[in-house]
Formats: sequence, structure tokens, C-alpha cells
Amino acid sequence: MTSANPNSPIDVIVLGAGAAGLLCAIEAGRRNRRVLLLDHAEKAGKKILISGGGRCNFTNLHTRPENFLSANPHFAKSALARYTPADFLALIHQHNIPFHEKTLGQLFCDRSAHDIVTMLEHECAQANVRTLLGTTITSVTKDEAAHFRVETSAGTFHSTSVVVATGGLSIPKMGATGLGYEIARHFGLNIIPTRPALVPLVFNPEDTNDWCDLSGLSAEVIATAAPAPTKARNPRANSTPAFREKLLITHRGLSGPAILQASSYWHPGQPIHIDLAPTLNVMKPMLASVAPVQSSARAQVFAPVRALPRRDLNAAYDLLRIILPARMAERWLTLHPPPDWTNPGIAAFEQRLHTWTITPAGTEGYAKAEVTAGGVDTA
Ligand SMILES: Cc1cc2nc3c(=O)[nH]c(=O)nc-3n(C[C@H](O)[C@H](O)[C@H](O)COP(=O)(O)OP(=O)(O)OC[C@H]3O[C@@H](n4cnc5c(N)ncnc54)[C@H](O)[C@@H]3O)c2cc1C
Repeated sequence: MTSANPNSPIDVIVLGAGAAGLLCAIEAGRRNRRVLLLDHAEKAGKKILISGGGRCNFTNLHTRPENFLSANPHFAKSALARYTPADFLALIHQHNIPFHEKTLGQLFCDRSAHDIVTMLEHECAQANVRTLLGTTITSVTKDEAAHFRVETSAGTFHSTSVVVATGGLSIPKMGATGLGYEIARHFGLNIIPTRPALVPLVFNPEDTNDWCDLSGLSAEVIATAAPAPTKARNPRANSTPAFREKLLITHRGLSGPAILQASSYWHPGQPIHIDLAPTLNVMKPMLASVAPVQSSARAQVFAPVRALPRRDLNAAYDLLRIILPARMAERWLTLHPPPDWTNPGIAAFEQRLHTWTITPAGTEGYAKAEVTAGGVDTA
């Protein structure tokens, strides 16, 4: 951290030393702007340090504009055209940071997310960025000469440009505030209503009774917040993506990558559809027919119901054990036993596995959300 004198000339004040603020400060410094980076935290990049379970999933090789949930899809197109995953990878290589691809193009640090923060701090120093931490920002105004005036606990700073990178509302314990939205409103910018996203879902009371004692169990599923399958002429017309990854039962509801992804498309009162048996492919999974699966993995025929050795509950349990953890399989059978062993009965049993529908009571909120959906209108 370097100290900043309120009287020394500044071209750009960057508010917030998170991932966005650090990268922006580096870029402005490289363009020979005199940059001051401010944050009320005692350490830059705190959220980066907890990201990706402490190893920071710093980019995805398959990043496309379509992967971004936005009211203005063009914003992601132009932003990604100007800065690609390959650009960030070049920086990673330059700093000799070891990394690996986990699944689906996700790149993680081999050692720790500290490598990323150290890299960004080093680049800031190289670009002569002055950083002032432990500094609370109270207001941003503009004077008659179109200069910005930034009031902080460390004094008043003036500049010709201000970048607001104070982030969203997720994880207030890590320093998140609504300052960015207040500044945006002050300058007349539209705010799209915010909501927690990439967030665990909370069961309604009935599902809590049925499932929460199994917290810690996980299974590979396909999850989507899409409306229930209908006989509409074009069922894809209003589909949302389906995510084939792990589901995790928690002591309050559901989490895991598949649920976190689907949660970003979820609105209160809406159901979540879960295919609990994507590898079981006797009947075509209904979910796959309403929404494109965002995964390179494809369903494979694993254990057709027709191959059941005995037409009894033990046989159904043997089958379920192949696709679900033992206690989850037992619970499913208790809650949804096959109606009978006629062909339609078997089909109904399997279809139910492909179309588990829950209506969550809510989300775990900003305290647990990885990101905030909505916010400053990019249009
Ligand atoms: C548990 C978890 C895991 C995640 N994993 C990943 C992952 O693996 N990969 C990935 O890409 N993303 C991940 N994310 C999301 C990612 O961390 C965030 O999207 C990203 O860090 C946001 O960066 P930002 O700079 O926009 O905001 P922030 O990192 O929130 O930075 C904003 C900064 O502004 C400061 N600030 C706010 N208000 C004020 C104020 N009033 N005065 C002064 N300073 C202020 C804050 O202290 C903060 O330092 C994860 C998030 C969480 C919570």
C-alpha cells in the first residue's frame, strides 16, 4: 500500500480495490494516468482470496457472451471482444502462476488465490498506481468545472475521472456496500432491481422435513429454473439454460454448482426442475427437451430400467444406488415408490426421477450469494 496526499495531482480515482477496480487501475496506470485506488478494506482483492474455494476460478476457456445473464446482451459482447480469457491467461503466464483446468474449461490456481492478488498488486505497483486502503468513501460529486470531488475518511480528493468499482451487495461481511448504486442514482443512472445470484436455495417446510437430515450428500443432476415442460408448439421459446453439474443437500436446502447456476435464473414462487438421473436414459429426459444443457458431457445409457433383475423394491433400490448416494436413493424410494411394475408404472417411476420439481421458499440471500444480479443498467 502506498500513501496518497490529497494535494498531489490525480487523473483517475478508482473506488474499490476488488477484481474490477484493481484491473481498471492497472490499465489506467499503463496509459500514463495518475491513478489513486481507494478501498475501506485493509487488504485489496479480499473477495478474490475466497473465490473458487480459495483457488480462484480465474477464467473459463469457453467464455462467450451467451454465458452472461444480462438485460443488455450487447454489453458482454463488446466487453469480451476487447478483453478475452486469452488476455488474462497471458498475464498469468507472464507471472508464472501454475494453474489447471478443472472441468468444463474452468481454470483454477494450483496453489492459492493469493497468487492472483499478488499478481494484481505487483501490476499496480508497476503502473504507479497509488493505493489507499482502510479509507471509507462517503460521497462523490461533480463541480462546475466538471471535476469530481471524492469525500473520504482520509480527506477530499479531486480528479477528472472516477471509476466506480465498489461491487455488488454479495457478502457484506467482506465489505460489500450499496455505495455504487447510490452514486449511480446520484448521477441519474437507472438501476435494474438487484437480487442474490449464484446462491444456495432454501427448501419449503415440507422438503426440509423430507431431505435436510441428509445434508452433505451430493449427486450429479441437471437443474433448471425453466417453467414446467408444456405442450407448447415451441417449448424452447422461453427456456432458460439447464446445468449439468453436482447438487448438494444442505441443512437448509440445496446448493452445489448445478443449483447455484440455476439460482441466477430463479424468481420467488417459481419452481426448480431437477433431473436426478441424467445418466439414466430409458426415456428421453424431459428437461433436456425444454432447455439446452450447458455441458459438454452428454447423457449415456447407464442402467436401463428394463434390465431390472427383479421386479421389486430391492431391484429399484439397486438401480437407484448406481446413480444416487445410498441414503438419497433410500429416501427417494420411500417418498416416491414405483406405483407398480407394469410398463407404464416403470415409466412413471423413471420420469419422476427426471422431473423432480421443488418450489424453494427463498435463497440464502446476499450473505451467501457469490454475485448480485441486476444493478447499474448497462444500456
Ligand atoms: C464465495 C465466492 C466464491 C467465488 N468464486 C468465484 C470464482 O471462482 N471465479 C469468479 O470469477 N468469481 C467468483 N466469485 C465472484 C467474484 O468473487 C466476484 O464477482 C468479484 O470478486 C467481484 O469483483 P468486484 O471488483 O466487482 O467487486 P468486489 O470484489 O466486491 O470489490 C468491491 C470493493 O469495493 C470496496 N467497497 C465497497 N463499498 C465501499 C465503500 N463504501 N467505501 C470503500 N470501499 C468500498 C469493497 O471493500 C471491495 O474491496 C466468487 C464469489 C464468492 C463470494
